[in-house]
Amino acid sequence: MRDFSGDHSALALNTATLGHNLDGFGAGWSPEQVIDGCAARGYGGVVFWRREIGSNATAIGQRAKAAGLKVAGLCRSPFLVGPLAPNGREAVLDDVRSSIDMTAALEAPILTIVVGGVEPGTKGMSESLKIVADRVAAACEFAERAGVRLALEPLNPVYGGDRSCLVTVRDAVNLCEVIAADNLGIAVDVYHVWWDTDLANQLQRAGAGRIYGFHLCDWLADTKDVLLDRGMMGDGVADIRGIRGAVEAAGYEGLCEVEIFSKDNWWKREPGEVLDVLVDRFRSVC
Ligand code: ZN
Repeated sequence: MRDFSGDHSALALNTATLGHNLDGFGAGWSPEQVIDGCAARGYGGVVFWRREIGSNATAIGQRAKAAGLKVAGLCRSPFLVGPLAPNGREAVLDDVRSSIDMTAALEAPILTIVVGGVEPGTKGMSESLKIVADRVAAACEFAERAGVRLALEPLNPVYGGDRSCLVTVRDAVNLCEVIAADNLGIAVDVYHVWWDTDLANQLQRAGAGRIYGFHLCDWLADTKDVLLDRGMMGDGVADIRGIRGAVEAAGYEGLCEVEIFSKDNWWKREPGEVLDVLVDRFRSVC
């Protein structure tokens, strides 16, 4: 397992941590300010959200690279199924294609896929997961042509209804096996998997070739809001180092991306302070 106690070159910022994925939250730093703030502190990478990039993907990607940062990925695809997805298969795939094109323009290797919840008119996960399999398979073909890899991110089961009918690493690996595309893998987020006692086995099933991302935060024991009250690493009950050990035992050696949605705490702080705390916690508790 890598030793981060004196080295945070594997640390990446997901800009949601600064409040950038929701209107009206955070200090509103521009992508350029974020790049400069991360580069000045020795971060290894940054992950943007589509809403921040607009039509500037190429310029932002080049700016990050010039500052010595990897653009590790892009958040995220549209929901593919469920009540929050675009209406119908063609609309979904059009938006998937746009998100793949943006990823390629940024020169980021990975687009994160959050699959969406239970398809209206159906019950349970199975029907929705079949629709997901069809749409992800189509997305893999566009992505292949664009040189982009797709990371299926299973979400915590609390989001099963509307945001993700994919709630376990097991089901994510199953989808990878069914679709069998060379550019399809998974992203493992502490917030979504910390409760899973079978995680290490499922990561072994995935193997290094299919783990495309690892996301850090913590689960607060008294969480107030399952969407917008994620904890800073070390403040909650997730065994972060144990999870990282399992991810690395499965062969993952990439960046570790901090992704904290925290409307009443971290999003209210000055971004420079947040970036400093991340470095400290990354070295001390991750
Ligand atoms: Zn994540």
